[in-house]
Amino acid sequence: MSALRSAGVPVHPVEAVPCPAAGTDLAILQRFLSDGHRECLRGDGTVVEIEAGTALLAAECVAEWVASDPDAGRGTVVVSDGDTALLDQALARRGLPVLGLSAPSPLRSGFQVIALCFAVVWKPLDPEKLLEFLTLPLSPIAPWAAGHLAAALREEPGTGGAAWPRAWALIEAGLRERMEADEGRELLEEWQSWVQVGRFERVSGVPTDIALAICRRLAGWAAAASEVEHGPLRRSLVEVTRSLEAALAMLGQATVAGRQMDQMLFQAIEDLSDSARCAEVGGIRAVADPGALWRPASRVVWWRFARGGSRPAPCHWDEAELAALAASGCRPESPVEAARRDEMHWRSVALHARQALLFVRPETECGDETARHPFAHQLAPLLTTQVGQQAIRVPAERLLARRHVRIAGRMITRAAADVVALPKAQAVWELPRALVARTRGRCESATSLEDMIGCQFRWLLRHVVGLRGSRAGLPDGERLLGNLAHELARAVLDPGTIPDPDSVRARARAEFDGLVERTAAPLLLPGRAAELAHARQRMPEALAALAAHLQSRGMAIEGTEVDCAGDAGGFRLVGRVDVVVRDPAGGRAAVDLKWSRSAARRRIELAEGRAIQLATYGRLLGSAGRGAPSAYFLLRQRIALSTSGSPLATEEVAALRDLDGTWEAVAADWRALIGLARHGIGLASGLGGGADLALDRVLAGDRDACVSCDLSRLCRIPSKRTAA
Ligand code: SF4
Repeated sequence: MSALRSAGVPVHPVEAVPCPAAGTDLAILQRFLSDGHRECLRGDGTVVEIEAGTALLAAECVAEWVASDPDAGRGTVVVSDGDTALLDQALARRGLPVLGLSAPSPLRSGFQVIALCFAVVWKPLDPEKLLEFLTLPLSPIAPWAAGHLAAALREEPGTGGAAWPRAWALIEAGLRERMEADEGRELLEEWQSWVQVGRFERVSGVPTDIALAICRRLAGWAAAASEVEHGPLRRSLVEVTRSLEAALAMLGQATVAGRQMDQMLFQAIEDLSDSARCAEVGGIRAVADPGALWRPASRVVWWRFARGGSRPAPCHWDEAELAALAASGCRPESPVEAARRDEMHWRSVALHARQALLFVRPETECGDETARHPFAHQLAPLLTTQVGQQAIRVPAERLLARRHVRIAGRMITRAAADVVALPKAQAVWELPRALVARTRGRCESATSLEDMIGCQFRWLLRHVVGLRGSRAGLPDGERLLGNLAHELARAVLDPGTIPDPDSVRARARAEFDGLVERTAAPLLLPGRAAELAHARQRMPEALAALAAHLQSRGMAIEGTEVDCAGDAGGFRLVGRVDVVVRDPAGGRAAVDLKWSRSAARRRIELAEGRAIQLATYGRLLGSAGRGAPSAYFLLRQRIALSTSGSPLATEEVAALRDLDGTWEAVAADWRALIGLARHGIGLASGLGGGADLALDRVLAGDRDACVSCDLSRLCRIPSKRTAA
């Protein structure tokens, strides 16, 4: 104390808080922790365990308990083993001061820009990270331009394909429209410098001068951001980039390895002060960790008494660094030591309570079940007593069922809230006039027709309004492989005579790796090796099989990814056909390539006369009112599927109607459904309503359409159906 005083630290005597009254549950519990003496708790409300089905309800319960305190929370300390965001919200709803220990903050999300700027310099490129960078709410690239780049990535997840330069060309054109040539060129170069910085191996590292340039660019961008809109974020970003710059300069290395860069970023962001996280002045106090409660408090609330103590800090040291630290006498805490320290802190929380100790345990958090706290196991012999259970273990749900609930010595009185009915799912919608006007003069494609026939409301939202659902991420899994297979087919199937299958196979093998890097980069990421190896082996074989099949039918290739358009009697029809072939007599035919695990869906579609895509392509390539032949070529199964009599099929499916018949049905349904829209009516087929609209349809709406639809929140369809 004298040393502290002499160093100028103000030292005040700690206010004495009387020990718990003898014979109370709290005194019994503290004695048990001190000398192991075991006695039954009586349920006098000094030790209470609140159990809630959800963290939300737990927060409501604690907030109600605090709100019913005549002392406005004075003398109460909340010990948090994590985040208090939910509790803060519940307190704020009651006009009580918040605790300010909420981990996520608007500033944190702003820091993503720093981490993502560095994440895109590594090889192999992680397109997901690049997409995140482009879709940041606060991004160095203007949203309209970043939108073009994000769309290119979704089309081809990589930066070496055709979509990426196409997006830059669109941006260049956009800049020309918006500003003077010189200014536009400068801005274009600046935007390119954010995402085209070169790619470096994580092990050998990024050159330090490039890392420094990124820091300076970030600092310059943050400094130029609006002080009014982004004041705290702006200042914090400048602070982080400066400390990074200083650290890089101090390193004095030519390159910085990926792991080292991660450590520096973590440290710089972690140490940053966050002005958005602050407690409000009030009687109630909070500490962020059980070990931070160092003096007695009248009432202690242990919020989120559910996990196994403080989470172990991530270890940023590798073996060599740990050895170097040990050689310098610096040894990080071992897991055993950390566990011992945790236990000491837990006991100290219980021993510091003087009038009441509340453990609050949500049974689930974010939908996940929580585990019991290890300290709860130590206290189990006392807490599981048969006497006074009602007062010791309080289910928070009691607050929802009773008007008066006693918790830890306080009577909480609840009042019924007004019931607000949630919006109901709706099958029939009245459309605004502006939307109705947009249904005129439309161009339809196979996809838009499929959407319309499946669900007219989905077609309206996706194709007329232009909404994209929440699943607008990068293509993954089968879709990514499908896109890659299409690119590979385009690379090896030149117009003209069908090449020899062996040469197709050899060429596909030679092209494969380059194409993956340019257009399917997620396959190069760790964890995807098996998938990549499978595709590398199967795709060239599949394309060789396609070539052999087309050769056996005497076909020649007219082109791949051929854009077609035509009048469909009432609307314009457009489409891009994967492979257009010509038979020996010069007749055109369409081959639609599919990469999918099973052929069942396509067989059913053909059998039910609902192969809308094939019917559309046939119509686009046909003449004199007749559709051209068309077939699916299933690359994984190496079969060509179409209706009976198709010159392209290796497997003919007996169908309810042929492809010309399917097209007639599509056209008739289009007339019925567009008529409905033009009368101002939207029909969500997933709900099965609209029977009284007396629609004259050939193909029924698809009630399963909702399973893969991402617009269910708008039509409010029950989630169990979308999850089915
Ligand atoms: S969720 Fe179902 S009903 Fe709603 S728009 Fe999508 S397909 Fe139509």
